[in-house]
Amino acid sequence: MNILFIGAPGSGKGTQSRELTEKFNFVQLSTGDLLRSAIKEKTELGLKASSYMDKGQLVPDALILDLVQSFITSHSGKSVIFDGFPRTVEQAKSLRKMLESIGQKIDSVIYFKINPQILIDRLTGRRTCANCGEIFHVHTKPSTKGDKCDKCGGELVHRKDDHADVISERLKQFETNTSPTIDYFRETGDLVVVNGELQPDIVFKEIKKSLNI
Ligand code: AMP
Repeated sequence: MNILFIGAPGSGKGTQSRELTEKFNFVQLSTGDLLRSAIKEKTELGLKASSYMDKGQLVPDALILDLVQSFITSHSGKSVIFDGFPRTVEQAKSLRKMLESIGQKIDSVIYFKINPQILIDRLTGRRTCANCGEIFHVHTKPSTKGDKCDKCGGELVHRKDDHADVISERLKQFETNTSPTIDYFRETGDLVVVNGELQPDIVFKEIKKSLNI
């Protein structure tokens, strides 16, 4: 099964992907997480990607598609949640082709719909575990261990691109590039819309219902 999670930054894709992979037999492909690992490891991809990510811009399609192709190749036979991919119509069309070439398809596209005003607060208050990727919020979901992760004790960080100036560019990129991608999936009949403003446990139930799991 191949499930796509699409939504603006802070709409809850990462939280829901983690929940689904913990409770069901999915692997998560977060292009954002893979890029951040590449930056940490100072690979060639990381060096190229960081200049775009620091400014809140999208990393060029060619780089992202290589990354996704190698993930698909090394996880064949697994059910995948594509978290934050595709973000352009070009990425969407290429993913379809990649999956078709191995006899698979896109089974569902879940769009996390949310008012942009809510996103600013979610992102500026978001703290992410540098070790396991668990997501917290300083007000709505603080860690009981302060600036350490509840789950693994790792350090909680305020992502460079979760600051107000970069957030506005990320939201702009979403409108320009990802909104047409959502329209593309609406036209292909694959789109399921969930209300990303609801509590995470309610969103989780809606997702499970739409996937019949
Ligand atoms: P995320 O962790 O999903 O919020 O992504 C962080 C940043 O990584 C984005 O602002 C982009 O610069 C880059 N990125 C992640 N996924 C993609 C993608 N599918 N296409 C282009 N850039 C991406």
